[in-house]
Amino acid sequence: MDVKADCTKRARKMVDLSTALIHGDDKDNRVSDVAPPINVSTTFRYDDDDLVPWTERENLDFMEKKPVYSRLAHPNSTRLESIFSEILDGYAVIYSSGLAAFYAAMVHYNPKKIFIGQSYHGVRAIANILTRNYGIKQYPLEDIEKYASEGDIVHLESPVNPYGTSSDIESLARRAHAKGALLIVDSTFASPPLQYAWNFGADIILYSATKYFGGHSDLLSGVIVVKEEATSRQLKDDRIYLGTNVANLESFMLLRSLRTYEMRITKQSENATKIVKFLSDHQSEFDKVLKTIYHSSLQTEEFVKKQLVGGYGPVFAITLHTKEQCKRLPLKLKYFHHATSLGGIESLVEWRAMTDPYIDQTLIRVSVGCESANDLIKDLASALKELQDAA
Ligand code: PLP
Repeated sequence: MDVKADCTKRARKMVDLSTALIHGDDKDNRVSDVAPPINVSTTFRYDDDDLVPWTERENLDFMEKKPVYSRLAHPNSTRLESIFSEILDGYAVIYSSGLAAFYAAMVHYNPKKIFIGQSYHGVRAIANILTRNYGIKQYPLEDIEKYASEGDIVHLESPVNPYGTSSDIESLARRAHAKGALLIVDSTFASPPLQYAWNFGADIILYSATKYFGGHSDLLSGVIVVKEEATSRQLKDDRIYLGTNVANLESFMLLRSLRTYEMRITKQSENATKIVKFLSDHQSEFDKVLKTIYHSSLQTEEFVKKQLVGGYGPVFAITLHTKEQCKRLPLKLKYFHHATSLGGIESLVEWRAMTDPYIDQTLIRVSVGCESANDLIKDLASALKELQDAA
């Protein structure tokens, strides 16, 4: 882990990432248990000495201090927001999934136009619903100068799903701001300490916490981080009625996952970088199978290293020569499950055509886990060699 990199953004903080992950919610302790309890209750007894009607509340902060009903807030969702606000350096609002978080941002900012390039197909599907129902216009990023105006949203995913390649956030922020539009950066593929999108002009940062923050392929969640407290309050208020707060059990699991998050993502990043280097160095040995390798570590533009200050993202993609090879490669792998999603400690490959209707039909996405990089490299090399020999 590049210590200097971690310090660039966190210099203003009292503690480092790993400490904040373990102690950022100490202030929310309600009991003496060291491990936070799993709270399954949806409703909480009113305090006999604090019977204030809703209409007399100045704001909604009370629901975090004294939980009322779990759709509003519950003890572990409050703990998560304390940690995420600290590690993501803003005001964090937690959701039941990454898509619920994106939808909440659309409801809040209510843009007339969305500028969007390659991105997770589900995000695009939400944009399509907004277009169908409310006539919101969608444009490619190239059209920002032509059509963007005040209050519009520019949505950028970097590194991008499923390629794992990076775009220049700073330049896009400049272009969006010149037209009065706001830039959302989906930084799911490189959460801190890999990338701090605030440093490059993001106005809103979004994460699917299902991926690296969750890290064990067993929960769904999402986070939005904003710079203004007032926006986070409005998002929390809206969330009550959208019904998209993170669930009770999931919040406990996510909290537990966060304690080890930095160790996991750092190892996943290192593993992915080693595997991509191996594939790139040996590509000619697999020339009848392996056509292209996509990953930020193979990009030469200057902004890539500046953005990925703590390491490259743990997802990369390859294209093979035929669809048949894409079907067969996963069958030949021992340590990569053939499944969708990413970010877990277990490595996955996905013939992306299985879930993404818009993608190259010969693309395999690789999500690198926490196994030994040597074992993963041997596994991939042997599967590619089998396909090479058969071609
Ligand atoms: N953003 C990115 C980049 C993703 O890859 C995904 C899911 O794969 C999402 C958002 C949506 O997250 P979730 O599945 O938690 O709703």
